[in-house]
Amino acid sequence: MSNILPTYPRSNLTFEYGKGSYLFEANGDQYLDFGSGIAVNSLGYANEYLNEKLMLQAQKLWHVSNVYQIPEQETLAKRLCDLCFADYVFFCNSGAESIEAAIKIARRYFYVTENSKTKNEIITFTGSFHGRTLGALAAGGLEKLDGFNTAVPGFKQVKYNDHDGLLAAINKNTAAILIEPIQGEGGVSVLPVECLNGLRKLCDENNILLIFDEVQCGFLRSGKMFAYQWSDIKPDIMTTAKAIANGFPLGATMTTKKVGEVMNHGTHGSTYGGNPLAVAVGNAVLDLMQKKDFLENLEKVSSYFFLGLQDISNKYPDSISEIRGKGLILGLKCVKDNITFVEELRQQKMLSIKAGDNVVRLLPPLTLSIKECDEALNKITKVCQAGN
Ligand SMILES: *Cc1c(COP(=O)(O)O)cnc(C)c1O
Repeated sequence: MSNILPTYPRSNLTFEYGKGSYLFEANGDQYLDFGSGIAVNSLGYANEYLNEKLMLQAQKLWHVSNVYQIPEQETLAKRLCDLCFADYVFFCNSGAESIEAAIKIARRYFYVTENSKTKNEIITFTGSFHGRTLGALAAGGLEKLDGFNTAVPGFKQVKYNDHDGLLAAINKNTAAILIEPIQGEGGVSVLPVECLNGLRKLCDENNILLIFDEVQCGFLRSGKMFAYQWSDIKPDIMTTAKAIANGFPLGATMTTKKVGEVMNHGTHGSTYGGNPLAVAVGNAVLDLMQKKDFLENLEKVSSYFFLGLQDISNKYPDSISEIRGKGLILGLKCVKDNITFVEELRQQKMLSIKAGDNVVRLLPPLTLSIKECDEALNKITKVCQAGN
């Protein structure tokens, strides 16, 4: 038997190494990876610049406690704040942890500023995914706590796209609305800009904090550094992780000065969060993403790929009924079973990820080339031709 707790239904693929957009098995078999470790390896595998920066830092200092100054962490925080609405960053190690910090910050905000012991309710949406810790699970829907004999109060879930339901859920104890600007696990649903605007207005009118979960859709995945930047509005708090350090565990919760100020000494912490090794990689990721032609290439490749997918969907409407998403967070809405589609793509030596709503999720590295797009489009076509 395996000694690993059996929480994952694992495929029997074993990868030995990766290079760019490809993963390799020990026997040399090569897979085009359109999963990227679930939106993590946005700069591909074995990137030389990232390796070099990681090795340099590894030789100097891996870890020191957050009770000391960490200059590279200051640098990364400053760079992140320059890229979005935020004034403060809290570094942690994962998406779920960045959600936990967001929950604490939002609830503490009203505890401190209004001396409120009851304004703690957080509204979330069906189809959302926020992580696996107890608070993050509750945010993803209270039914996810079934089987754990655990009650986590203070969360209310509203149907995605149900405007009236959202209005009805708001009351004087609503502290925050938490939403993914693009749902990943739920099936690659893009929240329209009008809805982002509407949410901001609703929050302002009702003294509610707006939290965006950009763990999956952040860091240029959607074609903007953060997906909310397709609109002109700003959240009060934002959670990030996944692509932030291309696979080195790192997460970051960002917030405004006004909200972040309530988190005084001792109110939150993390042993590893933002340690020198993690932030060295985080800074190196931004070095590459902020290069002049990075976004240009991404825009070119993602529009090319989207059009190619639309062609396939037009040709094989019995296989793919709709193409969803933005940038390189894309979803194929399958007519038949999405799990079979993922398996058949795997037989074509292409990796993809299933999502909710019978969708196949495509999350290739953002460094994808046109040639690799063509290869992917061919493989997807073959699966459709075979009748899935
Ligand atoms: C993956 C994900 C999380 C959880 O991240 P972990 O690093 O697995 O804890 C939270 N929110 C969204 C939107 C995600 O995609």
